[in-house]
Amino acid sequence: MNMNDGSGDLLPRCAWARGGDALYTAYHDREWGTQSFQDRHLFEMLILEGFQAGLSWRTILNKRDAFREAFDGFDPEKVARYGPDKTDELMGNQGIVRNRLKILSAVGNAQAFLSIQKEYGSFSNYLWGWVDNTPVLPGPGPVPTQTPLSDAISRDLMRRGMRFVGSVIIYSFLQAVGVVNDHEPGCFRHPGKAQTG
Ligand SMILES: [Zn+2]
Repeated sequence: MNMNDGSGDLLPRCAWARGGDALYTAYHDREWGTQSFQDRHLFEMLILEGFQAGLSWRTILNKRDAFREAFDGFDPEKVARYGPDKTDELMGNQGIVRNRLKILSAVGNAQAFLSIQKEYGSFSNYLWGWVDNTPVLPGPGPVPTQTPLSDAISRDLMRRGMRFVGSVIIYSFLQAVGVVNDHEPGCFRHPGKAQTG
């Protein structure tokens, strides 16, 4: 097997992260599958995963800095208060994904996010409560695109008024924030291997 992914090092990685794209590789190496307990980061990932629907994750990563700037650093308290003037302004921002439904859902999702924080003390408490604070490790066989866990969380978030939180989107979110660890068996970040950071 050729471990060289073109990024200049010989680390074995998940197949999807072997393209040699520096941003993509860094995302795989430092973020994807790492347990996150910070509400600001969890909110960012939840919103970005929703914006990804129908697009590539690479597109979203390339726009991530613009998204952060446009959405006040993904401060849910600020996003929850966005009115029509702000959403119109976002529709004119070429740095982000200009989709009115997604932009409006980000505002509604911020409001639901704040309600969850109030109820559970933090969104992190709410999220990790679904797995008793223990990440779900990779199973044998192909990586799924949704599971009974993502189905249940998706249903609950929809009940709380969130949109663009279908089970496939939520599964992708769970992978991103480390509630589920889906690094491939050969990957240097697979939980069976020593973690480097
Ligand atoms: Zn990996």
